[in-house]
Amino acid sequence: MPIDVLTVEDLSFRYNSSDVLSGISFSIKKGDYIGLVGPNGSGKTTLVKVILGLLKPYIGRITLFGDDIAAFSRWDKIGYLPQHIAAMNPRFPATVGEVVAMGLLSKKQFPKHMNRSDLAEVDRILDLLDMKKLKNTPVGELSGGQQQRVLVARAIVNNPEFLIVDEPTDALDPEMRDRFFDIMQTLNKEKKVAIVIVTHDTGNIGRYTSKLLYVDKKIVFYGSFEDFCTSREITQFFGEFAQHVICHRHNQNPNCPPGDHGTD
Ligand code: ADP
Repeated sequence: MPIDVLTVEDLSFRYNSSDVLSGISFSIKKGDYIGLVGPNGSGKTTLVKVILGLLKPYIGRITLFGDDIAAFSRWDKIGYLPQHIAAMNPRFPATVGEVVAMGLLSKKQFPKHMNRSDLAEVDRILDLLDMKKLKNTPVGELSGGQQQRVLVARAIVNNPEFLIVDEPTDALDPEMRDRFFDIMQTLNKEKKVAIVIVTHDTGNIGRYTSKLLYVDKKIVFYGSFEDFCTSREITQFFGEFAQHVICHRHNQNPNCPPGDHGTD
């Protein structure tokens, strides 16, 4: 049996006195492509931060690639794309090429020098994202969408085996958004990278991902889209309309309000 990329067992987390996550258990396997969805404030970002080792203490057990998170050291296997470009200080005195190269540093021992193949890898990724011409431009001079692309490049340059992406597409124009999802698809299908995408875009996420993890402080649903869309329990929980928004069954549903049939 291959080792799971991630296992979460009976995880609970609270900020001060309020419970944000309770009794969360699930696992992610190599090649999974998961949409993490749930209402605003349902704990999605908190769950991601706990998985990335950024929030402690929590109750429960988390393993990454078979190791307890407390002992896990191969963070270079994990790529993270944050939601906000604010994570990057606009006055940060680095060029596009340098920021992308930083994505390679985590797997290096000291001294952290770039070799020729590292530099070639940076060029390859910049090319993939149409950013080669911007390689020597300071990141502070880029538009929001371009900065977002730099973050995408930095998250994938390391060839991660597990990629966590926090709603990346708001700042991307439609063409780049499609390109972004193509790249995710290729990483997932060809390299079997496990991907979790945190999103509000429940109406579209089923086009890209194969599983749905629906969190609202606890796990409401975890499984395939097929199961989500055919589950009676889910229909009872969400009501038909909400289920249909995710499943794109609008046209088969006579109760669906006119003009709200998605783009299918
Ligand atoms: P989501 O990503 O699903 O919108 P979050 O994980 O950001 O949800 O937030 C879950 C809940 O935790 C919300 O009620 C939010 O207000 C609260 N919360 C988030 N961050 C903090 C914090 N640093 N301190 C206290 N409460 C927080």
